[in-house]
Amino acid sequence: MTGATHLLTGSLIYVFMRGNKLLSPVFALGSHFLLDAIPHFDNSAWNFPLGFLAILFLLLTTKRTGDPFILISALFGILPDVNHIVIFNETMLDLHQVAHFKKTFEIPIDFLYTEMYACLAACYLIWTRYPAKVLH
Ligand SMILES: [Zn+2]
Repeated sequence: MTGATHLLTGSLIYVFMRGNKLLSPVFALGSHFLLDAIPHFDNSAWNFPLGFLAILFLLLTTKRTGDPFILISALFGILPDVNHIVIFNETMLDLHQVAHFKKTFEIPIDFLYTEMYACLAACYLIWTRYPAKVLH
């Protein structure tokens, strides 16, 4: 999946777990392996700009809510991909490679469009659900 999907899923888990600061990062990390098991369109030309937009959105949300765990949970969601670039844990690297789907057929770009709609839905839920579910 794109970095944007992993980041937003990590934050969304934190929002849906009503601000559980202990378990949200754990589930965010676990979500990475589940999402990567789904066949998806991998392309860094799309990945970097979308990730940049997701980070901007999450920084804005963190500023709005004053809750850094929106961002911390997001970072746990993308941690296995960071570990793939800057290897700091061999076990996580092995688990990431085992969990990632094996591309045995051409993935149409429609998969990416679907993923982007899911990201937009995640942004909507993070933005609208956070104050109602976590603050009050
Ligand atoms: Zn990954």
